[in-house]
Amino acid sequence: MDNVTKKKRSEIMSRIRGKNTKPEIAVMKYLSSRGYKYRLHDKKLPGKPDIVLKWKKIAIQVRGCFWHGHSCKLANYPKTNRKYWKDKINNNRKRDRKNDKLIKKMGYKLIVINECKIRNKKLNIKFNRLS
Ligand SMILES: [Zn+2]
Repeated sequence: MDNVTKKKRSEIMSRIRGKNTKPEIAVMKYLSSRGYKYRLHDKKLPGKPDIVLKWKKIAIQVRGCFWHGHSCKLANYPKTNRKYWKDKINNNRKRDRKNDKLIKKMGYKLIVINECKIRNKKLNIKFNRLS
């Protein structure tokens, strides 16, 4: 059985997985402050990109480092149930890769922003590519 308590897990889940998570909100604020109009969680596009700038054909995925297996210290596996998490995250990564390919085929420019970049306030670097 899993040693992570239910409460703890749902805490992790809601922190990282839910819609309009903190990293996403940071990006949305950034875009709004520059007058960009965007659409959220566009179900018609592969991978349901978090933020879509349709007229520019730009899709933005804000990825929680843990869930998407980013190679940074935010992405450490929990000490319990390592196999469970490893499998889950590997599946996420596979799905990411597939969807990334599909959306690029549709002519979209895909910008992936990892959670840790937002925390580090390095957002500007990525967004220079928007203008
Ligand atoms: Zn990261």
